[in-house]
Amino acid sequence: MSFIRAATTARSAAAAARRFSTEASAKKSSNYGLYLGGAGVAGLAGYLYLQSQQSAKPKRIQEKSPLDPDNWVDFKLKKVIPYNHNTSEFVFELPNNDASLLPISSCVIVKSSDPEALKDAKGKPVVRPYTPISPSDKEGELTFLVKKYDAGLASKHIHELKEGQTLSIKGPIPKWPWKMNEFEEVALIGGGSGITPLYQILNHALSDPSNKTKFKLIFANVTEDDILLKGEFDAFKKKYPNNFDVVYALDKPSPSWKGYSGYVNAELLKKEIAGPELKEKTKVFICGPPGQVAAIAGKKAGMKQGELGGILKELGYTEDQVYKF
Ligand SMILES: Cc1cc2nc3c(=O)[nH]c(=O)nc-3n(C[C@H](O)[C@H](O)[C@H](O)COP(=O)(O)OP(=O)(O)OC[C@H]3O[C@@H](n4cnc5c(N)ncnc54)[C@H](O)[C@@H]3O)c2cc1C
Repeated sequence: MSFIRAATTARSAAAAARRFSTEASAKKSSNYGLYLGGAGVAGLAGYLYLQSQQSAKPKRIQEKSPLDPDNWVDFKLKKVIPYNHNTSEFVFELPNNDASLLPISSCVIVKSSDPEALKDAKGKPVVRPYTPISPSDKEGELTFLVKKYDAGLASKHIHELKEGQTLSIKGPIPKWPWKMNEFEEVALIGGGSGITPLYQILNHALSDPSNKTKFKLIFANVTEDDILLKGEFDAFKKKYPNNFDVVYALDKPSPSWKGYSGYVNAELLKKEIAGPELKEKTKVFICGPPGQVAAIAGKKAGMKQGELGGILKELGYTEDQVYKF
């Protein structure tokens, strides 16, 4: 396993406004050190230094991300791995066996490589955000878990791609700049395919031995078959019992279902997540369908956070304590 000791800055105006830094303390059994820093030509700055456990010599230097926050880049679809009835993993090839070096947390935006292939009713290119499930230091691959919506434009296009074809990708698009141990307690509320930004944080933070934050994931879905990454979350719970817990809620549970039933409500949140009285020591991250986000945390205002509303406001959380992806 590798970990990131990173201080990255992106060159675009949007990205330059934020500085990302994730810290991992010196570890007794670190296999790799990965250092990122400085400004890169293509936007995501980076100096990558990989060191194998066996050898003190640098194994690999990667100066910048293959992604560009200012320009669209076509990436080749290498593999499609069916996941469930409506979701597949799409593995894109990163050239020169590079890693994406995406900061935590961030997503990318995608559109069709062929401008004619994916347009909205007004003839404009359809652009949508996606968060990879592959770690930032994964070499040579960028993997997305994409759920297909029947009436969904981008998700349908991605599901129709054949291996060898390309998708146009731009990024990173900075989201919450994660700092290790900034919070004592973190609640993550996810709905459907909105789970991937929350998984990105969890996968990064839990695998860092310096982590002290306690995470609680509340994951809502329609049926048990819709729960994405359940194997990964259940494995986190086993591996990090003191720092991670997950509860699942289903709209349409089977008779044998033992988790929560129905939508995420005030009672569930009061019982399961750290209360607002922890002030700056706690944070709630939410990502799900617009209806769920509105009901729990108030509507997003386009790309902006929008006012805090919904259940979290009723329970006394403040705007500073909540981040909507
Ligand atoms: C930060 C971020 C990261 C994301 N990462 C992923 C990811 O890793 N994998 C993934 O599959 N999706 C992800 N999404 C959602 C993705 O961006 C698209 O919204 C989704 O794929 C639907 O787009 P579409 O063009 O196919 O559907 P559209 O044409 O936009 O919409 C078609 C129908 O689907 C409904 N719909 C749109 N979005 C959602 C939604 N999120 N949940 C439920 N219903 C919806 C609409 O109301 C409409 O009825 C992410 C969203 C955000 C904000």
